[in-house]
Amino acid sequence: MNASPLISRRSFLVSGVTAGAVLASGVGVGRARPRGLDPAPAPFSLGIASGEPGPQSVVLWTRLAWDALHGGGMPAAPVPVQWEIAADEGMRRIVRRGVTIAWPESAHSVHVRVAGLEPDHWYWYRFRTRHDESPTGRTRTLPAPGSSPRRLRFAFVSCQDFENGYYPALYNLAREDVDFVIHLGDYIYEGGPTAGLPRQHNGPEIVTLEDYRNRHALYKSDASLQAVHAAFPMIATWDDHETENDYAAAVSEDPAQPPDVFLVRRAAAYRAYWEHMPLTRAQKPEGPDTLLYRRFRWGRLAEFNILDTRQYRSDQPCGDGLTVPCPAQLDPAATMTGPEQERWLLEGLADSEARWNVIAQQVMMMQANFGPAAQVPRLFNMDAWDGYVAARNRILGFLLHGRPSNPVVPTGDIHSSWVANLKADFDDPTSATVATELVGASISSDFPAQFVPAVQASLPANPHIRFFDGLRHGYVRCDVDRYRWRADFRTVSTILEPVAPVSTLASFVVESGRPGAVPA
Ligand code: FE
Ligand code: CA
Repeated sequence: MNASPLISRRSFLVSGVTAGAVLASGVGVGRARPRGLDPAPAPFSLGIASGEPGPQSVVLWTRLAWDALHGGGMPAAPVPVQWEIAADEGMRRIVRRGVTIAWPESAHSVHVRVAGLEPDHWYWYRFRTRHDESPTGRTRTLPAPGSSPRRLRFAFVSCQDFENGYYPALYNLAREDVDFVIHLGDYIYEGGPTAGLPRQHNGPEIVTLEDYRNRHALYKSDASLQAVHAAFPMIATWDDHETENDYAAAVSEDPAQPPDVFLVRRAAAYRAYWEHMPLTRAQKPEGPDTLLYRRFRWGRLAEFNILDTRQYRSDQPCGDGLTVPCPAQLDPAATMTGPEQERWLLEGLADSEARWNVIAQQVMMMQANFGPAAQVPRLFNMDAWDGYVAARNRILGFLLHGRPSNPVVPTGDIHSSWVANLKADFDDPTSATVATELVGASISSDFPAQFVPAVQASLPANPHIRFFDGLRHGYVRCDVDRYRWRADFRTVSTILEPVAPVSTLASFVVESGRPGAVPA
């Protein structure tokens, strides 16, 4: 049958794209599919990526796979992969090139650290095997140490449950004008398939290295996720679902599971994460251990502390979950970061010469009483910093007394948008505001809709919380200069279609020297 104009229009509507969205996203009418909705062809079917930017270096990543969802489909032999990086999009002005080896032991992934680049420059890169060439990706270096860049734009994201919906948030993020993207975790989810959702997980709950590889491959098959990686370097850290829901160090969510058994699973999860992310070879896990917390500097404008709040934390107190206050919540021995990472963080903040000091991490740092305002008892989330009050007090106490310049805390995990002033004493609204927390909406994971009215009702009991939305999906776009930090909560109209319009739900500003967020 011929496609009449009516039918073409209908298929556009069916795919959830309105005329406005077509104009806004620059998608041309007359194309079968909007640009960027087809994943790359094999053997580069998992796309390309870059990360770990330095002033003169960046890591380039890809993984060869002919049958990505079933172990990769590659021969059990090393494969040479050529890479090149250029100063122009047309790949004419090549500045570095080389050959690396995709090893079967690493699922034929490659992690190339390219050095000798110019600070504060955009680059383009691609890979080639004997017969095939990858798509071209774009990346950039950080400004030179000690330089004073006037501006930084970046976005942060979290929680991209593949089953729960599509990634129109990432589709739109790939078209933003930002310097890099921070992923705060839940890059994959570990569960088995759930009937009735827009997409399905491949196979039951993942446990083995092979399982984790195939799950990463499923997520990486999404064209919008590939487009974000191809457009910007990504600085990534994990949360729980890259391994297992709510795990804590060597403690599984399943109380019956011995730590030594869980650590075998954790080793598989960490290994597959490394294989699929643009990390350095030095970050490759040794068994169940790897060093993922680290620091990035945007000249003297901003310093980013990227935390790992899963690998070293003490077990969630009081049986985990949302619960009434309990003594273990205040245990001074409890830790979210482990002592070494905590010392590293506080020393780094003390030594920092940056205008903005960013603590990018996973779970809500603010006190959040989920109990209805007028009612006792109060309810707290034991998986967040509310379960680790003494550890939080040590960090916020340092911010109060050590006074590092302009601390801002981007957070993921909770699948909803929040803005909060972090207080010296959350139970005393007149106490000092020491930092600003920005909690980003998820890419596709849901906040339970039935909790939204309860949270809204609890807001009067949480006067330091300035904004909450529990229904929308998206990302937070930040625009930072020496005088102010602007955060735009960019949300999409639906996750039931791969392409949907994005708009700014709310914008907040933090003025340099004045901790706390105000509506823009
Ligand atoms: Fe999540
Ligand atoms: Ca999480």
